[in-house]
This record gives sequence, C-alpha cells and structure tokens, in this order.
Amino acid sequence: MIKIILATSNPHKLEEIKAINTNPEIVFDVVKENFNPDENGSTFKENALIKAKEAAKITKTYCLADDSGLCVDVLEGLPGIHSARYAKTQREKINKLLNELKMVPYDYRGAHFICSMVLVDNEGNPVHYEEGRIYGYIDDTPKGANGFGYDPVFFVPEYNKTIAQLPEEIKNNISHRANALKPMLEWIKENLL
Ligand code: IMP
Repeated sequence: MIKIILATSNPHKLEEIKAINTNPEIVFDVVKENFNPDENGSTFKENALIKAKEAAKITKTYCLADDSGLCVDVLEGLPGIHSARYAKTQREKINKLLNELKMVPYDYRGAHFICSMVLVDNEGNPVHYEEGRIYGYIDDTPKGANGFGYDPVFFVPEYNKTIAQLPEEIKNNISHRANALKPMLEWIKENLL
C-alpha cells in the first residue's frame, strides 16, 4: 500500500482524483497544514512541480500535484496557466471568456483542458510526469450544474453536452484529469507498489 499526499487545496480536484482512482492500494490524503504555494511558473508543468515540492517539504511523503487550466485556440491558449486568476469569481471568469468570444462562431471556438501531473518523492525529487487533455468547444451560454470551474461552458461534441451537464462518472472517465491520472496510477502500481 502507498499513501500519496495531494498537493492541492481545491476540493473539486480532490474529489475527482479520489473517484478516478479505483486501486485500494493507492490511498490519497491532503496536506493538513495551510497550503498556498506561489504558482509563479510559466508552464503547467512548472507550476505542478512547485506545488508538489512544497507539499513534500511540509509532509515528507510522496506528493502528487495537478496543475490544470483551459486553453482556447482563438485566444492563443488563454486563459491557460492563468485560468484560476482570469477574474475574481467563477461566474466572472466565465462571463469574461464568453465576452471575449462573443463574435466568434462555433467552428472557431475550439478549446482544450490540460492537466499536468507530477509525482515527487518524500524529498521533493520528481519521479514521474503525465499530461492529460480533453478537446471540445466553448459554448455560448453556461449549461449544467455538475463539475466546477469552466465546466458549464466546455461543450463536448461526442456527448452533445457541456461537461457540467454530464454525470460525474462520465467526466471522470474522459476528462483531462482522468487522462493524466490513469497512466500515473498505472506507473505507481508498476513502480511503487
Ligand atoms: P490550478 O488550481 O492552478 O490548477 O487552477 C486550475 C483552474 O483551471 C481552476 O481554478 C479552473 O478555473 C480551471 N480548471 C481546471 N480543471 C478544471 C476542470 O476540470 N473543470 C473546469 N475548470 C477547470
């Protein structure tokens, strides 16, 4: 069995990661102390490493960090690593995005979520990276109440729904987070159990 500390204070990420992991031998816990690292990296990967290292410094255990965000093609990848800070509240973030795209027709509203994950050992040395993505379009109005963040405006053509309209089991099977975490869990199983 292995216990891994999740380097996040985002309760949604935590819930999703716990739901995606079906291996009872891999147990996730959170940093109990106040956790607020300065995410000043210039890529998702750099920010994931900053968070994971900080968590390992506090907990002296294997730590997994998830740095993620929404990249919109026509905005040249924005909000990207600034997704969490794009505006104050989530409603304001979504409104700002929809406003930026208001003259852009559906076919040009392509976007993807990225999730960069890094696992560090108890001394903060990176031992494995994974990146996951999901591709879709930015809808013109928010729809649905599931998930979090930009999910109400992220339209998935295969399901003809926004992520926030999908049941959590489906999000947790197709999301950027699932696409990073599943191979990460395989790696942990092969190398650390
Ligand atoms: P982080 O905590 O610095 O990785 O910021 C991630 C930000 O990206 C979140 O605050 C959300 O705004 C957005 N984001 C990341 N993952 C998701 C997701 O699964 N659904 C919707 N928004 C997400």
